[in-house]
Amino acid sequence: METILKIDNLNKEFGKVHAVKNVSFEIKKGNVYGILGPNGSGKSTTLGIILNVVNRTSGNYQWFDGQMDTHHALKKVGAIIERPNFYPYMTAEENLQLVCNIKGIHYDKVEEKLAVVGLLERKGSKFRTFSLGMKQRLAIASALLNDPEILILDEPTNGLDPQGIRQIRDIIKHIASLGTTILLASHLLDEVEKVCSHVVVLRKGEMLYSGTVDGMIANEGFFELQADNNAELRSLLSNHNAVEKIEEEDGKLFVYLKSPWEAAEVNRYLFQHNICLNHLVKRKHSLEEQFLQLTNHQ
Ligand code: ADP
Ligand code: MG
Repeated sequence: METILKIDNLNKEFGKVHAVKNVSFEIKKGNVYGILGPNGSGKSTTLGIILNVVNRTSGNYQWFDGQMDTHHALKKVGAIIERPNFYPYMTAEENLQLVCNIKGIHYDKVEEKLAVVGLLERKGSKFRTFSLGMKQRLAIASALLNDPEILILDEPTNGLDPQGIRQIRDIIKHIASLGTTILLASHLLDEVEKVCSHVVVLRKGEMLYSGTVDGMIANEGFFELQADNNAELRSLLSNHNAVEKIEEEDGKLFVYLKSPWEAAEVNRYLFQHNICLNHLVKRKHSLEEQFLQLTNHQ
C-alpha cells in the first residue's frame, strides 16, 4: 500500500507546554484516519506541523515518497484547518471560480466538486445566505478542487446541528469511497467510530493508541450473566480458562474474557454444569468506553 505521510517522533513545545510528544504514525493511501483526543491534546498542532504552518520542535515527517519538498507535496493536499473564508456577496460558484483562478485549476472542477458536497443546486446562491453546514460543505468542495491525494479536516462538524453533522459525515464517507485518503481530527468518539477506518488516540500530546478502529473495539468482550445462584455461577466460571476476571454489580456478573467464548457455548457449558441462566448478554467495549478508559488512566 502506498504511503501518503509518515510521521516520526514528532515533538512540539510551546514554552513549557509539551503539546505533541513523540508522535509517530503512517498514513496509507485509501484509508480514513482519525486523530482522536480531548481538547488540548495536540490534534491541531500535529495537523499544523504536517501542513507547514507550525514549526516542529523535533522529529520528522515525510510526504509521499520523500522525493518532493514539502512545498510541492502540499500541492497534492487539500486541507481545512480554520473556519472557511469566502466572499459573502459572491455566489458559491463564483467563490470557487476565484479559488480556481488562484490555483490554476479549470472551471470544470467547480460543478464537479459542488456536486460531491451536494451544493450544485445552490451554486447561484450567495455565500452569506448559507447555513454553517453549507459553508463547511463549500469549504470541502474548495479543498477538493485540485483533486488532492489526501483531504485533511480539523473538527469538521464543530458547531453544526445534528442534520449538518450527518451531512458532513456522509460526504466524508462518499469522498473516501471515491478513493481520496482522509485525515480528520476530532474530539468526538462516535465521529471517529462512524467515519474512520484507522485512529490515533492522543492525550496531552501523547499517543495512546494507533491502529484500526476495529482493532481497538475488538477485544474479546464480556458477558453479563445472572443465575438464581450467582455464587455458584461465579465459582464455576472463575475456573474456566477463557475467563479473565469477574465483577459483580446489581445482581449481575460481568465476566471479562481473555480468549473467545461464544454465547451459545457459554450457555451449553453452564447448563451441563446444572446452572440455568436467567440473563445472558454478550458485549464488546465500544470505542467510547475504551477511549474513556484510555484517557482516564494516568
Ligand atoms: P487540540 O487541537 O487537540 O485541541 P492543540 O493542538 O490546539 O489541541 O493544543 C495542544 C496544546 O498546545 C494545548 O495545551 C494548547 O494550549 C497548546 N497550544 C496550541 N497552540 C499554541 C500556541 N500557539 N501557543 C502556545 N500554546 C499553544
Ligand atoms: Mg484543535
